[in-house]
Amino acid sequence: MTTLKFIFSRLPIRWKLAVWSSLLLCILFILYNGVQYFTINQWMVSEGEVSIRKSMNEIQNFFQEKHMSAQEIVNSRRFVEDMNDPHQMIRILNQQGTPLLSVSDEIPEDWFPPQTAQSTRIMTAWHLEDQVLIMRSPLNSGGFTGTIEIINNMENLEKVSDKIKGVMIVGGIGAIVLSALGGIFLSRQLIRPIQSMTDTMTRIRKKGLHEERVQVSDNNDELSNLGRVFNGLIDQLERSFQQQKQFVEDASHELRTPISIIEGHISLLNRWGKHDPAILDESLSVSVQELERLKGIVNDLLELTRAESGTSEQNVPAIDIRHTVQYTLTNFAMLHPDMIFRKELTPLEKVQIHITPQHLEQLLLIVLDNAVKYAGSSKEILVTGTLERDEVYIHITDYGIGIPAEDLPYLFDRFYRVDKARSREQGGTGLGLAIAKQLVKRYNGDIRVSSIEHIGTTVTLCFPIYRV
Ligand code: ADP
Repeated sequence: MTTLKFIFSRLPIRWKLAVWSSLLLCILFILYNGVQYFTINQWMVSEGEVSIRKSMNEIQNFFQEKHMSAQEIVNSRRFVEDMNDPHQMIRILNQQGTPLLSVSDEIPEDWFPPQTAQSTRIMTAWHLEDQVLIMRSPLNSGGFTGTIEIINNMENLEKVSDKIKGVMIVGGIGAIVLSALGGIFLSRQLIRPIQSMTDTMTRIRKKGLHEERVQVSDNNDELSNLGRVFNGLIDQLERSFQQQKQFVEDASHELRTPISIIEGHISLLNRWGKHDPAILDESLSVSVQELERLKGIVNDLLELTRAESGTSEQNVPAIDIRHTVQYTLTNFAMLHPDMIFRKELTPLEKVQIHITPQHLEQLLLIVLDNAVKYAGSSKEILVTGTLERDEVYIHITDYGIGIPAEDLPYLFDRFYRVDKARSREQGGTGLGLAIAKQLVKRYNGDIRVSSIEHIGTTVTLCFPIYRV
Protein backbone atom coordinates (compact mmCIF):
# COMPACT_ATOMS: atom_id res chain seq x y z
CA MET A 1 0.00 0.00 0.00
CA THR A 2 2.79 2.42 0.95
CA THR A 3 4.65 1.51 -2.25
CA LEU A 4 1.49 2.21 -4.23
CA LYS A 5 1.09 5.55 -2.44
CA PHE A 6 4.73 6.37 -3.12
CA ILE A 7 4.40 5.55 -6.82
CA PHE A 8 1.17 7.55 -7.06
CA SER A 9 2.70 10.58 -5.35
CA ARG A 10 5.53 10.60 -7.92
CA LEU A 11 3.21 10.47 -10.93
CA PRO A 12 2.81 13.68 -12.95
CA ILE A 13 -0.51 15.47 -12.36
CA ARG A 14 -1.84 14.49 -15.79
CA TRP A 15 -1.48 10.79 -14.90
CA LYS A 16 -2.93 11.32 -11.48
CA LEU A 17 -5.99 12.95 -13.05
CA ALA A 18 -6.31 10.07 -15.52
CA VAL A 19 -6.07 7.44 -12.77
CA TRP A 20 -8.56 9.24 -10.54
CA SER A 21 -11.09 9.83 -13.30
CA SER A 22 -10.91 6.18 -14.46
CA LEU A 23 -11.23 4.91 -10.92
CA LEU A 24 -14.18 7.14 -10.22
CA LEU A 25 -15.92 6.22 -13.42
CA CYS A 26 -15.27 2.54 -12.80
CA ILE A 27 -16.86 2.74 -9.33
CA LEU A 28 -19.82 4.66 -10.71
CA PHE A 29 -20.26 2.14 -13.49
CA ILE A 30 -20.14 -0.84 -11.12
CA LEU A 31 -22.60 0.81 -8.74
CA TYR A 32 -24.99 1.75 -11.53
CA ASN A 33 -24.91 -1.71 -13.10
CA GLY A 34 -25.19 -3.42 -9.72
CA VAL A 35 -28.37 -1.50 -8.95
CA GLN A 36 -29.68 -2.21 -12.44
CA TYR A 37 -28.88 -5.93 -12.14
CA PHE A 38 -30.53 -6.20 -8.75
CA THR A 39 -33.69 -4.36 -9.91
CA ILE A 40 -34.07 -6.50 -13.06
CA ASN A 41 -33.54 -9.66 -11.00
CA GLN A 42 -36.24 -8.66 -8.53
CA TRP A 43 -38.62 -7.74 -11.31
CA MET A 44 -38.13 -11.07 -13.10
CA VAL A 45 -38.60 -13.09 -9.92
CA SER A 46 -41.87 -11.28 -9.22
CA GLU A 47 -42.98 -11.81 -12.82
CA GLY A 48 -42.15 -15.54 -12.40
CA GLU A 49 -44.17 -15.57 -9.20
CA VAL A 50 -47.19 -14.05 -10.92
CA SER A 51 -47.04 -16.64 -13.68
CA ILE A 52 -46.53 -19.61 -11.33
CA ARG A 53 -49.43 -18.45 -9.11
CA LYS A 54 -51.67 -18.18 -12.16
CA SER A 55 -50.85 -21.75 -13.23
CA MET A 56 -51.40 -22.97 -9.66
CA ASN A 57 -54.82 -21.30 -9.46
CA GLU A 58 -55.95 -22.72 -12.75
CA ILE A 59 -54.90 -26.26 -11.81
CA GLN A 60 -56.53 -25.91 -8.36
CA ASN A 61 -59.78 -24.66 -9.86
CA PHE A 62 -59.83 -27.40 -12.46
CA PHE A 63 -59.45 -30.22 -9.93
CA GLN A 64 -61.70 -28.69 -7.29
CA GLU A 65 -64.54 -27.95 -9.69
CA LYS A 66 -64.52 -31.50 -11.01
CA HIS A 67 -64.27 -33.20 -7.56
CA MET A 68 -61.75 -35.68 -8.91
CA SER A 69 -60.56 -38.84 -7.25
CA ALA A 70 -56.90 -39.88 -7.18
CA GLN A 71 -57.31 -42.07 -10.25
CA GLU A 72 -59.06 -39.33 -12.21
CA ILE A 73 -56.25 -36.98 -11.32
CA VAL A 74 -53.70 -39.47 -12.66
CA ASN A 75 -55.76 -39.58 -15.85
CA SER A 76 -55.69 -35.80 -16.25
CA ARG A 77 -52.07 -35.85 -17.48
CA ARG A 78 -53.07 -34.16 -20.73
CA PHE A 79 -54.57 -31.13 -18.99
CA VAL A 80 -51.52 -30.77 -16.73
CA GLU A 81 -49.18 -31.09 -19.73
CA ASP A 82 -51.08 -28.27 -21.41
CA MET A 83 -50.77 -26.16 -18.32
CA ASN A 84 -47.01 -26.71 -18.01
CA ASP A 85 -44.61 -23.99 -19.21
CA PRO A 86 -41.13 -24.51 -20.66
CA HIS A 87 -38.47 -25.31 -18.04
CA GLN A 88 -41.12 -26.15 -15.50
CA MET A 89 -42.27 -29.26 -13.61
CA ILE A 90 -45.73 -29.86 -12.13
CA ARG A 91 -46.22 -32.69 -9.62
CA ILE A 92 -49.38 -33.80 -7.86
CA LEU A 93 -48.57 -35.61 -4.61
CA ASN A 94 -50.83 -37.67 -2.43
CA GLN A 95 -51.09 -37.21 1.32
CA GLN A 96 -47.94 -39.31 1.90
CA GLY A 97 -45.92 -37.19 -0.53
CA THR A 98 -45.76 -39.79 -3.31
CA PRO A 99 -46.11 -38.26 -6.80
CA LEU A 100 -49.30 -39.45 -8.53
CA LEU A 101 -48.71 -37.35 -11.60
CA SER A 102 -45.50 -35.68 -12.72
CA VAL A 103 -45.11 -33.55 -15.84
CA SER A 104 -41.75 -31.95 -16.55
CA ASP A 105 -40.06 -29.90 -19.23
CA GLU A 106 -36.30 -30.30 -18.90
CA ILE A 107 -36.34 -30.46 -15.10
CA PRO A 108 -35.11 -33.82 -13.77
CA GLU A 109 -37.25 -35.38 -10.97
CA ASP A 110 -34.33 -35.73 -8.59
CA TRP A 111 -33.49 -32.00 -8.51
CA PHE A 112 -35.94 -31.46 -5.66
CA PRO A 113 -37.56 -34.37 -3.72
CA PRO A 114 -41.38 -34.14 -3.50
CA GLN A 115 -42.73 -32.38 -0.40
CA THR A 116 -46.29 -32.03 0.86
CA ALA A 117 -47.64 -28.68 2.06
CA GLN A 118 -50.32 -27.75 4.62
CA SER A 119 -50.57 -24.21 3.27
CA THR A 120 -49.62 -22.39 0.09
CA ARG A 121 -45.94 -21.46 0.02
CA ILE A 122 -43.71 -19.93 -2.61
CA MET A 123 -39.92 -19.67 -2.47
CA THR A 124 -36.77 -19.47 -4.55
CA ALA A 125 -34.10 -22.17 -4.39
CA TRP A 126 -30.92 -23.11 -6.17
CA HIS A 127 -29.88 -26.30 -7.87
CA LEU A 128 -26.19 -25.89 -8.61
CA GLU A 129 -26.20 -22.85 -10.91
CA ASP A 130 -29.92 -22.90 -11.67
CA GLN A 131 -32.23 -20.62 -9.77
CA VAL A 132 -35.74 -22.07 -9.43
CA LEU A 133 -39.06 -20.86 -8.11
CA ILE A 134 -41.01 -23.49 -6.13
CA MET A 135 -44.67 -23.19 -5.25
CA ARG A 136 -46.53 -25.78 -3.14
CA SER A 137 -50.22 -25.66 -2.38
CA PRO A 138 -52.62 -28.17 -0.72
CA LEU A 139 -55.29 -29.74 -3.01
CA ASN A 140 -58.71 -30.93 -1.79
CA SER A 141 -60.75 -32.33 -4.62
CA GLY A 142 -63.68 -34.60 -3.85
CA GLY A 143 -62.27 -37.40 -1.78
CA PHE A 144 -58.65 -36.60 -2.64
CA THR A 145 -56.29 -34.65 -0.42
CA GLY A 146 -52.78 -33.93 -1.60
CA THR A 147 -50.35 -31.24 -2.78
CA ILE A 148 -49.70 -29.50 -6.08
CA GLU A 149 -46.02 -28.68 -6.62
CA ILE A 150 -44.83 -26.38 -9.37
CA ILE A 151 -41.07 -26.00 -9.88
CA ASN A 152 -40.01 -23.40 -12.43
CA ASN A 153 -36.41 -23.04 -13.62
CA MET A 154 -35.90 -19.33 -14.22
CA GLU A 155 -33.88 -19.80 -17.40
CA ASN A 156 -34.86 -16.39 -18.76
CA LEU A 157 -33.59 -14.69 -15.67
CA GLU A 158 -30.25 -16.42 -16.08
CA LYS A 159 -30.05 -15.48 -19.72
CA VAL A 160 -30.78 -11.83 -18.96
CA SER A 161 -28.37 -11.70 -16.06
CA ASP A 162 -25.65 -13.32 -18.17
CA LYS A 163 -26.26 -10.65 -20.79
CA ILE A 164 -26.14 -7.88 -18.20
CA LYS A 165 -22.93 -9.30 -16.80
CA GLY A 166 -21.44 -9.37 -20.30
CA VAL A 167 -22.50 -5.80 -21.01
CA MET A 168 -21.17 -4.76 -17.62
CA ILE A 169 -17.75 -6.26 -18.24
CA VAL A 170 -17.38 -4.98 -21.81
CA GLY A 171 -18.91 -1.60 -20.95
CA GLY A 172 -16.80 -1.36 -17.80
CA ILE A 173 -13.55 -1.98 -19.66
CA GLY A 174 -14.64 0.44 -22.41
CA ALA A 175 -15.57 3.08 -19.83
CA ILE A 176 -12.26 2.73 -18.02
CA VAL A 177 -10.28 3.05 -21.25
CA LEU A 178 -12.39 5.99 -22.46
CA SER A 179 -12.24 7.82 -19.15
CA ALA A 180 -8.48 7.25 -18.93
CA LEU A 181 -8.08 8.74 -22.41
CA GLY A 182 -10.48 11.57 -21.50
CA GLY A 183 -8.58 12.16 -18.27
CA ILE A 184 -5.26 12.33 -20.12
CA PHE A 185 -6.71 14.71 -22.73
CA LEU A 186 -8.37 16.90 -20.11
CA SER A 187 -5.32 17.04 -17.89
CA ARG A 188 -3.13 17.90 -20.89
CA GLN A 189 -5.42 20.82 -21.66
CA LEU A 190 -5.35 21.93 -18.04
CA ILE A 191 -1.65 21.43 -17.53
CA ARG A 192 -0.53 23.19 -20.72
CA PRO A 193 -0.86 26.76 -19.31
CA ILE A 194 0.76 25.66 -16.06
CA GLN A 195 3.60 24.08 -18.00
CA SER A 196 4.01 27.29 -20.00
CA MET A 197 4.09 29.23 -16.73
CA THR A 198 6.77 26.92 -15.33
CA ASP A 199 8.84 27.35 -18.50
CA THR A 200 8.46 31.12 -18.31
CA MET A 201 9.48 31.15 -14.67
CA THR A 202 12.57 29.09 -15.50
CA ARG A 203 13.46 31.54 -18.27
CA ILE A 204 12.85 34.50 -15.93
CA ARG A 205 15.18 32.92 -13.40
CA LYS A 206 17.86 32.61 -16.05
CA LYS A 207 17.44 35.87 -17.96
CA GLY A 208 15.96 38.30 -15.44
CA LEU A 209 12.57 39.89 -14.84
CA HIS A 210 12.34 42.24 -17.80
CA GLU A 211 12.68 39.64 -20.58
CA GLU A 212 9.77 37.25 -20.23
CA ARG A 213 6.04 37.11 -19.53
CA VAL A 214 3.53 34.25 -19.57
CA GLN A 215 1.45 33.98 -22.76
CA VAL A 216 -2.14 34.56 -21.64
CA SER A 217 -5.13 33.55 -23.77
CA ASP A 218 -8.22 35.76 -24.08
CA ASN A 219 -10.29 33.26 -22.11
CA ASN A 220 -11.60 34.35 -18.80
CA ASP A 221 -10.97 31.06 -17.03
CA GLU A 222 -9.04 30.49 -13.83
CA LEU A 223 -5.79 29.55 -15.52
CA SER A 224 -5.77 32.64 -17.74
CA ASN A 225 -6.47 34.72 -14.66
CA LEU A 226 -3.60 32.98 -12.90
CA GLY A 227 -1.36 33.89 -15.85
CA ARG A 228 -2.52 37.51 -15.69
CA VAL A 229 -1.98 37.70 -11.94
CA PHE A 230 1.47 36.15 -12.39
CA ASN A 231 2.42 38.67 -15.08
CA GLY A 232 1.10 41.51 -12.91
CA LEU A 233 3.18 40.25 -10.03
CA ILE A 234 6.32 40.09 -12.13
CA ASP A 235 5.64 43.62 -13.46
CA GLN A 236 5.23 44.84 -9.91
CA LEU A 237 8.42 43.07 -8.84
CA GLU A 238 10.31 44.54 -11.74
CA ARG A 239 9.01 48.01 -10.93
CA SER A 240 9.88 47.57 -7.32
CA PHE A 241 13.44 46.36 -8.14
CA GLN A 242 13.81 49.27 -10.50
CA GLN A 243 12.65 51.69 -7.81
CA GLN A 244 15.00 50.12 -5.29
CA LYS A 245 17.89 50.50 -7.70
CA GLN A 246 16.93 54.08 -8.47
CA PHE A 247 16.56 54.76 -4.78
CA VAL A 248 20.02 53.44 -3.94
CA GLU A 249 21.51 55.44 -6.84
CA ASP A 250 19.70 58.64 -5.77
CA ALA A 251 20.54 58.15 -2.12
CA SER A 252 24.23 57.56 -2.76
CA HIS A 253 24.30 60.56 -5.06
CA GLU A 254 22.69 62.73 -2.40
CA LEU A 255 24.99 61.44 0.31
CA ARG A 256 28.06 61.89 -1.83
CA THR A 257 27.79 65.73 -1.96
CA PRO A 258 28.06 66.46 1.79
CA ILE A 259 30.65 63.70 2.17
CA SER A 260 32.80 65.23 -0.60
CA ILE A 261 32.46 68.69 0.95
CA ILE A 262 33.51 67.38 4.38
CA GLU A 263 36.36 65.43 2.78
CA GLY A 264 37.56 68.53 0.96
CA HIS A 265 37.56 70.64 4.10
CA ILE A 266 39.33 68.03 6.19
CA SER A 267 42.13 67.66 3.65
CA LEU A 268 42.35 71.44 3.50
CA LEU A 269 42.69 71.49 7.27
CA ASN A 270 45.26 68.74 7.09
CA ARG A 271 47.38 70.63 4.65
CA TRP A 272 47.11 74.31 5.66
CA GLY A 273 44.45 74.88 8.21
CA LYS A 274 46.03 73.44 11.35
CA HIS A 275 47.91 76.69 11.98
CA ASP A 276 45.55 79.08 10.23
CA PRO A 277 42.68 79.94 12.58
CA ALA A 278 40.61 81.47 9.75
CA ILE A 279 40.68 78.28 7.62
CA LEU A 280 40.22 76.13 10.73
CA ASP A 281 37.18 78.10 11.73
CA GLU A 282 35.54 78.08 8.33
CA SER A 283 36.27 74.41 7.57
CA LEU A 284 34.95 73.25 10.91
CA SER A 285 31.75 75.24 10.59
CA VAL A 286 31.13 73.98 7.01
CA SER A 287 31.83 70.38 8.12
CA VAL A 288 29.39 70.69 11.03
CA GLN A 289 26.78 72.13 8.65
CA GLU A 290 27.28 69.30 6.13
CA LEU A 291 27.17 66.71 8.90
CA GLU A 292 23.82 68.19 9.93
CA ARG A 293 22.65 67.73 6.34
CA LEU A 294 23.87 64.15 6.30
CA LYS A 295 21.99 63.50 9.51
CA GLY A 296 18.88 65.08 7.96
CA ILE A 297 19.09 62.92 4.83
CA VAL A 298 19.63 59.74 6.84
CA ASN A 299 16.71 60.59 9.13
CA ASP A 300 14.42 61.35 6.17
CA LEU A 301 15.46 58.15 4.42
CA LEU A 302 14.58 56.25 7.55
CA GLU A 303 11.21 58.02 7.75
CA LEU A 304 10.49 57.23 4.11
CA THR A 305 11.32 53.55 4.54
CA ARG A 306 9.05 53.45 7.58
CA ALA A 307 6.22 55.16 5.72
CA GLU A 308 6.60 52.83 2.72
CA SER A 309 6.77 49.63 4.71
CA GLY A 310 3.52 50.28 6.61
CA THR A 311 0.40 48.68 5.22
CA SER A 312 -2.98 50.37 4.90
CA GLU A 313 -4.20 51.33 8.38
CA GLN A 314 -7.86 50.49 8.95
CA ASN A 315 -7.86 49.79 12.66
CA VAL A 316 -6.37 53.04 13.95
CA PRO A 317 -8.83 54.84 16.25
CA ALA A 318 -10.46 57.97 14.82
CA ILE A 319 -9.27 61.36 16.10
CA ASP A 320 -10.63 64.88 16.14
CA ILE A 321 -8.90 66.48 13.16
CA ARG A 322 -9.46 70.10 14.17
CA HIS A 323 -7.86 69.62 17.54
CA THR A 324 -4.64 68.13 16.08
CA VAL A 325 -4.38 70.73 13.29
CA GLN A 326 -4.82 73.57 15.77
CA TYR A 327 -2.32 72.11 18.25
CA THR A 328 0.35 71.56 15.55
CA LEU A 329 -0.20 74.98 14.08
CA THR A 330 0.16 76.72 17.44
CA ASN A 331 3.44 74.92 18.18
CA PHE A 332 4.77 75.55 14.68
CA ALA A 333 3.89 79.25 14.84
CA MET A 334 5.96 79.58 18.00
CA LEU A 335 9.05 78.41 16.10
CA HIS A 336 8.45 81.02 13.37
CA PRO A 337 7.53 84.25 15.11
CA ASP A 338 8.29 86.26 11.97
CA MET A 339 5.50 84.52 10.02
CA ILE A 340 1.76 85.22 10.17
CA PHE A 341 -0.45 82.15 10.35
CA ARG A 342 -4.12 82.61 9.51
CA LYS A 343 -6.54 79.77 9.91
CA GLU A 344 -10.15 78.96 9.11
CA LEU A 345 -10.93 75.58 10.70
CA THR A 346 -14.60 75.95 11.70
CA PRO A 347 -15.88 73.40 9.13
CA LEU A 348 -13.60 70.78 10.76
CA GLU A 349 -15.47 70.96 14.04
CA LYS A 350 -16.33 67.49 15.35
CA VAL A 351 -14.94 65.87 12.20
CA GLN A 352 -13.07 62.65 12.86
CA ILE A 353 -10.64 60.72 10.67
CA HIS A 354 -8.67 57.49 11.06
CA ILE A 355 -5.05 58.46 11.63
CA THR A 356 -2.58 58.56 14.50
CA PRO A 357 -2.06 62.13 15.84
CA GLN A 358 1.71 61.69 15.31
CA HIS A 359 1.31 60.96 11.61
CA LEU A 360 -1.14 63.84 11.06
CA GLU A 361 1.30 66.13 12.86
CA GLN A 362 4.21 64.81 10.77
CA LEU A 363 2.25 65.46 7.56
CA LEU A 364 1.31 68.99 8.59
CA LEU A 365 4.88 69.76 9.60
CA ILE A 366 6.27 68.62 6.22
CA VAL A 367 3.84 70.87 4.35
CA LEU A 368 4.08 73.84 6.76
CA ASP A 369 7.86 73.60 6.72
CA ASN A 370 7.87 73.84 2.91
CA ALA A 371 5.41 76.74 3.02
CA VAL A 372 7.77 78.66 5.31
CA LYS A 373 10.93 77.61 3.40
CA TYR A 374 9.57 78.73 0.05
CA ALA A 375 7.48 81.71 1.27
CA GLY A 376 9.97 84.18 -0.18
CA SER A 377 9.27 87.71 0.91
CA SER A 378 5.67 86.96 1.81
CA LYS A 379 5.14 86.33 5.49
CA GLU A 380 1.67 84.94 5.41
CA ILE A 381 0.45 81.35 5.52
CA LEU A 382 -3.19 80.33 5.41
CA VAL A 383 -4.58 77.04 6.73
CA THR A 384 -8.21 76.22 5.94
CA GLY A 385 -10.43 73.20 6.39
CA THR A 386 -13.32 72.21 4.09
CA LEU A 387 -15.72 69.28 3.75
CA GLU A 388 -17.03 67.68 0.62
CA ARG A 389 -19.30 64.61 0.69
CA ASP A 390 -17.35 61.93 2.59
CA GLU A 391 -14.02 63.72 2.58
CA VAL A 392 -12.27 66.36 4.58
CA TYR A 393 -9.63 68.69 3.11
CA ILE A 394 -6.89 70.68 4.78
CA HIS A 395 -5.44 73.37 2.50
CA ILE A 396 -2.10 75.00 3.36
CA THR A 397 -1.45 78.05 1.21
CA ASP A 398 1.60 80.25 0.96
CA TYR A 399 2.19 83.28 -1.27
CA GLY A 400 5.81 82.57 -2.03
CA ILE A 401 7.93 81.57 -5.00
CA GLY A 402 5.50 78.94 -6.34
CA ILE A 403 6.38 75.96 -8.54
CA PRO A 404 6.70 75.92 -12.36
CA ALA A 405 3.91 73.86 -13.96
CA GLU A 406 6.38 71.45 -15.60
CA ASP A 407 7.76 70.48 -12.17
CA LEU A 408 4.40 69.75 -10.56
CA PRO A 409 4.12 66.07 -11.69
CA TYR A 410 7.49 65.17 -10.11
CA LEU A 411 7.14 66.80 -6.71
CA PHE A 412 6.41 63.49 -4.97
CA ASP A 413 9.44 61.71 -6.45
CA ARG A 414 12.24 61.04 -4.04
CA PHE A 415 14.97 63.69 -3.96
CA TYR A 416 13.10 65.86 -6.47
CA ARG A 417 13.75 69.51 -5.94
CA VAL A 418 12.70 72.33 -8.22
CA ASP A 419 15.70 74.44 -7.45
CA LYS A 420 18.43 72.21 -6.06
CA ALA A 421 20.67 75.01 -4.84
CA ARG A 422 17.83 76.88 -3.18
CA SER A 423 16.50 73.75 -1.53
CA ARG A 424 19.97 72.86 -0.27
CA GLU A 425 20.30 76.34 1.12
CA GLN A 426 17.02 75.88 2.95
CA GLY A 427 18.17 72.54 4.33
CA GLY A 428 15.77 70.53 2.12
CA THR A 429 16.48 66.92 1.23
CA GLY A 430 13.82 66.47 -1.48
CA LEU A 431 12.25 63.67 0.57
CA GLY A 432 9.52 65.54 2.49
CA LEU A 433 6.71 65.24 -0.06
CA ALA A 434 7.67 61.63 -0.92
CA ILE A 435 7.27 60.75 2.79
CA ALA A 436 3.97 62.68 2.93
CA LYS A 437 2.62 60.80 -0.10
CA GLN A 438 3.41 57.42 1.45
CA LEU A 439 1.87 58.44 4.76
CA VAL A 440 -1.47 59.64 3.34
CA LYS A 441 -1.70 56.49 1.23
CA ARG A 442 -1.61 54.42 4.40
CA TYR A 443 -4.76 56.17 5.60
CA ASN A 444 -6.54 55.99 2.22
CA GLY A 445 -6.02 59.71 1.83
CA ASP A 446 -4.40 61.87 -0.82
CA ILE A 447 -2.10 64.86 -1.17
CA ARG A 448 -2.27 67.37 -4.05
CA VAL A 449 -0.30 70.44 -4.96
CA SER A 450 -1.51 73.36 -7.02
CA SER A 451 0.81 76.24 -7.64
CA ILE A 452 1.45 79.30 -9.79
CA GLU A 453 5.01 80.51 -10.06
CA HIS A 454 5.67 83.73 -8.12
CA ILE A 455 2.07 83.76 -6.86
CA GLY A 456 2.00 80.94 -4.38
CA THR A 457 1.32 77.29 -3.63
CA THR A 458 -1.54 75.38 -2.05
CA VAL A 459 -0.97 71.88 -0.75
CA THR A 460 -4.14 69.95 0.03
CA LEU A 461 -4.35 66.95 2.34
CA CYS A 462 -7.46 64.87 1.89
CA PHE A 463 -8.88 62.08 4.12
CA PRO A 464 -12.06 60.01 4.23
CA ILE A 465 -14.31 61.16 7.10
CA TYR A 466 -15.00 58.65 9.85
CA ARG A 467 -18.73 58.41 10.52
CA VAL A 468 -20.06 56.66 13.60
P1 ADP B 1 12.49 69.57 0.28
O1 ADP B 1 13.07 68.93 1.46
O2 ADP B 1 13.52 69.93 -0.76
O3 ADP B 1 11.59 70.70 0.60
P2 ADP B 1 10.11 68.22 -0.55
O4 ADP B 1 9.92 66.84 -1.04
O5 ADP B 1 9.39 68.60 0.68
O6 ADP B 1 11.66 68.43 -0.42
O7 ADP B 1 9.70 69.18 -1.71
C1 ADP B 1 10.17 68.93 -3.01
C2 ADP B 1 10.34 70.21 -3.78
O8 ADP B 1 9.09 70.82 -4.05
C3 ADP B 1 11.10 71.26 -3.03
O9 ADP B 1 12.46 71.10 -3.22
C4 ADP B 1 10.59 72.54 -3.63
O10 ADP B 1 11.31 72.83 -4.80
C5 ADP B 1 9.18 72.21 -4.04
N1 ADP B 1 8.17 72.72 -3.05
C6 ADP B 1 7.56 72.04 -2.09
N2 ADP B 1 6.71 72.84 -1.42
C7 ADP B 1 6.78 74.04 -1.98
C8 ADP B 1 6.14 75.31 -1.73
N3 ADP B 1 5.23 75.46 -0.76
N4 ADP B 1 6.46 76.35 -2.54
C9 ADP B 1 7.35 76.21 -3.51
N5 ADP B 1 8.01 75.06 -3.80
C10 ADP B 1 7.73 74.00 -3.04
